[in-house]
Amino acid sequence: MQAIEAVPAQDAQRLVILGTGGTIAGRAALAGDNVGYVAGQVSVGDLVDAVPMLKHLPLDVEQVAQLDSKDMNFDVWKALAVQVAFHLGRSDVMGVVITHGTDTIEETAFFLQSVLKPAKPVVLTCAMRPATALVPDGPQNLSDAVAVARQVGAQGVVVVCAGQIHGADDVTKVHTYRVDAFDSGDAGPLGCVEEGMVRLFRPWPGACLAGSFDASAHDRVQASLVLPRVVLLTSHADADGLMVHALLAQAASGMVQPLRGIVVAGTGNGTLHKNLEIALLEAQAQGIRVVLSSRCVRGRVLAHLGQRFSEVSSLSPVKSRIALALDLLPG
Ligand code: ASP
Repeated sequence: MQAIEAVPAQDAQRLVILGTGGTIAGRAALAGDNVGYVAGQVSVGDLVDAVPMLKHLPLDVEQVAQLDSKDMNFDVWKALAVQVAFHLGRSDVMGVVITHGTDTIEETAFFLQSVLKPAKPVVLTCAMRPATALVPDGPQNLSDAVAVARQVGAQGVVVVCAGQIHGADDVTKVHTYRVDAFDSGDAGPLGCVEEGMVRLFRPWPGACLAGSFDASAHDRVQASLVLPRVVLLTSHADADGLMVHALLAQAASGMVQPLRGIVVAGTGNGTLHKNLEIALLEAQAQGIRVVLSSRCVRGRVLAHLGQRFSEVSSLSPVKSRIALALDLLPG
């Protein structure tokens, strides 16, 4: 792999730092406690103030949400998309950094990349240890994220954690505890940050061709009160069709938002337990879109002759759910 040395930005331009909570903003009762804390307690302003390297940079800081990202939802995504789009449209802003929890950072990154395809960098960062830890990882991650957002030529949505830069489509949280909790699977990281310098291994994520973000996709999302309902199921030993039948019955009752799609995390190359498969074929026959993904952490589902579901996804199951829901949006 050839390393491309990226050049640091020369012009002083503004960065916007948006806070959404997470462990990076978490507080524990004991300084030595890295797991028994409450996420989303410290303001993004205080997180920025804790990083001396950021003191003299032109920054705007804004709290968009303050939550544990395990509870992330479409309303916060919409609010984030609005703010990110607004700031990217400013001529004095070169990029946006978002502080976020690690649990769903890959989903938010994928959502923003899918919806905005930003022509400027949007850098999500996080921490595995709370702000009150003896050795917190948040300040270094935030400093690295700012270095990435100031990089000339940077574009698209990326996640920066533990010195690595991951593309929104590939990044996955793979560890429950370690500070280097993220991986980009077969693709590998986009690059790394070393002492504030960015080293790029492969191109930035793709961006829209005109403007600083994709206004049409952004408008479609903003016009929707809810994301079309797509449910994620997993195939496993002893799997059956009960969940699918329950979903179909619930949808038929008209009590909940109509079910529009099911993403199934299959085994291996998207294979399914035969009992689950029968139920999913029934769902498909009723007009529910069924997409096959894989519960394997590496590789992608390859379509093949004789496949009984027409849609397969090369994304992780959680990202396949977002992709299908966005595809189902009206307009
Ligand atoms: N539960 C936390 C969150 O996602 C975990 C973290 O940030 O590491 O907000």
